[in-house]
Amino acid sequence: MGIEEKLPSGVLLSTVEGLAGYMRKASFWPATFGLACCAIEMMTSGGPKYDLARFGMEVFRASPRQADLMIVAGRVSQKMAPVLRQIYDQMPEPKWVLAMGVCASSGGMFNNYAIVQGVDHVVPVDMYLPGCPPRPEMLIDAILKLHDQVQATKMGANRQAEIVELETSALRA
Ligand code: SF4
Repeated sequence: MGIEEKLPSGVLLSTVEGLAGYMRKASFWPATFGLACCAIEMMTSGGPKYDLARFGMEVFRASPRQADLMIVAGRVSQKMAPVLRQIYDQMPEPKWVLAMGVCASSGGMFNNYAIVQGVDHVVPVDMYLPGCPPRPEMLIDAILKLHDQVQATKMGANRQAEIVELETSALRA
């Protein structure tokens, strides 16, 4: 009897890619990176009440080289933008970015020369989360929606082409 007949139906339908996607989303580690008031809600999400650890992400990494998610929690000043980009560049592929709150997403009420009018001018954003600040439940919901993207990401995916396009558009602007 072949192994296919011994295993329950459907087991062999799982692909290696699907398994890799599952593993990635089940250990989705964010970089430790808070910029302003939204970061307080992000930190609360990791506490015992909201317990982000339920979704495999209790470890906020101090090194970007060990992180695959950047949560941009707060407004991004023009001076901070190159630092943010450097941290992003130091994260290994594949990686994802979540813009938390209106300031990170679009500059929010800080429509002035000192604040970047949306972090997507600096790094590619995969998920925009509205609110000022978004509550921990909203952040967790956005992360779970991002899990779908993580699961669907092909193995060996590299977003360099997208980044080059981003830089080109920034130069055109
Ligand atoms: Fe602060 Fe609101 Fe901006 Fe978040 S969206 S950084 S809470 S002002």
